Amino acid sequence: MPKKYQTGLMWFRRDLRTDDNAALHHALKSCEKVFAVFIFDSDILSPLPRADRRVEFIRESLVDLDGQLQQLAQRAGGTGSTGAGLMVFHGKASDALVALSDRLSVDAVFTNHDDEPAALARDAEVNARLQSAGRAWHSFKDHVIFERDEVLTLAGKPYSVFTPYKNAWLKKIDAFYLKPYPIEPYAKALAPPPAGEPSGVPSLTDIGFEPTNLQALKIPTGSQGGQALFDEFIGRMAQYKDTRDFPAVKGPSYLGVHLRFGTVSLRRMAAIALDRQREGDEGAATWLSELIWRDFYAQILSNFPHAAHQAFKPEYDAIAWESGDAAQALFKAWCEGRTGYPLVDAAMAQINQTGYMHNRLRMVTASFLVKDLGIDWRWGERYFAEKLNDFDLSANNGGWQWAASTGCDAQPYFRIFNPVSQSEKFDPQGKFIRKYLPALEKLPAPAIHSPWTAKPLELAAAGVALGETYPMPVVAHHEARAKTLQRYAVVKKS
Ligand code: FAD
Repeated sequence: MPKKYQTGLMWFRRDLRTDDNAALHHALKSCEKVFAVFIFDSDILSPLPRADRRVEFIRESLVDLDGQLQQLAQRAGGTGSTGAGLMVFHGKASDALVALSDRLSVDAVFTNHDDEPAALARDAEVNARLQSAGRAWHSFKDHVIFERDEVLTLAGKPYSVFTPYKNAWLKKIDAFYLKPYPIEPYAKALAPPPAGEPSGVPSLTDIGFEPTNLQALKIPTGSQGGQALFDEFIGRMAQYKDTRDFPAVKGPSYLGVHLRFGTVSLRRMAAIALDRQREGDEGAATWLSELIWRDFYAQILSNFPHAAHQAFKPEYDAIAWESGDAAQALFKAWCEGRTGYPLVDAAMAQINQTGYMHNRLRMVTASFLVKDLGIDWRWGERYFAEKLNDFDLSANNGGWQWAASTGCDAQPYFRIFNPVSQSEKFDPQGKFIRKYLPALEKLPAPAIHSPWTAKPLELAAAGVALGETYPMPVVAHHEARAKTLQRYAVVKKS
């Protein structure tokens, strides 16, 4: 049967893999010839610091993707059996994509959905420009299991509370939604970049960036790296429920950055977790639940786009946050891990040094910024967005609004984490703190959770001089707590 199109262009964005890729499947199936492109978007890259782990992660993952495309084409033995691979550009994505489509005279562009507000606006513009040149635009769900309005309440409304959403998600899920999209049988259509177009992946320097400590940290990149992480996690999945809250323990999967950039197939992972959950594996059930949180926040952003900039619950926008020089100084201390609360400071050192922060600590540090320092959650949200390797607008915004109690299914405002008891509970021996705060390395537990309560002799024996080698607390938690309850009282009155 003749294919629908002569020439297609596959535009990779947050789906940097060939395995089980919805748009790639459709492109290969419906076009005689398929070119593949990735564009380093200058609109996204320009504001970033010149050393950014995400950019390096993407760059390394593109090398892997390019290799996957070449191997697929070779195995298929089609027109692109030699030289098929990725074209990589650096520039304003909408312009570069439209110009490339013109040069290649493609009939259609294939891509996977990106539902972040800026991406939706960019895609609407690209789609309109392609259409006016007589080219088709096909975009597919790939990044989540259920998107947009696929899971609704009985009244046809989007969910804003997680548990009923999760129940509806689990009721709806079946083999259809988790079935991988086959690529190999259609790979013959892969075509090499035509003469005059780039092939291979530019270096970081070529796109104006510098190497980071990504490789020193041994953060695995590309589909191969993602698969290796998942293979290793599979052996620990059953313990996830019991281990995931302790930052000194290897409990979570560390797959966030791979899920963010689509180097792994969410469908394949969710299918394995679901099978195990059905066999009674509680660890797998808990991990699947986290993947459902990811879908939940993605649909929140889709259905309630105001949440990207404002409180999900508008009455919370009436809260008066701290401002001025004192607030700026406190914010700086938080960013730099100098609050005097060891668990908070160690967590901030973790994000600053590695781009990762354990989920428990994301909750603790976010709560501390908002409810101990009285600082607008959007400041912290921006800081995490700049630092996290796995930064994802919907999950980050959801996490911050949860911690600030401004979100859809947030913790109530009067629940305020105590940074010392969180430390005692989740890092009882202070192992995590010691890893990131060498100044406290010799301080034993329990003093390590609150050094200002330690006896002078104990501090001296550990070589700690408060206010010199390690800061005194920037606020007293019990006072901050009382102030926060007052601050949030405005919500009760509205
Ligand atoms: P695992 O525990 O192995 O979980 C597996 C996957 O499930 C994660 O990789 C992630 O894709 C998803 N997931 C887990 N928890 C959540 C959650 N609460 N919400 C949405 N998805 C979840 N997650 C991000 O992916 N990007 C962010 O920018 C982000 N910012 C956050 C900010 C705050 C303030 C908070 C409290 C949480 C944030 N999270 C974010 C959620 C969570 O902390 C991370 O997904 C998790 O720590 C990543 O580590 P992991 O891959 O080892 O996760």
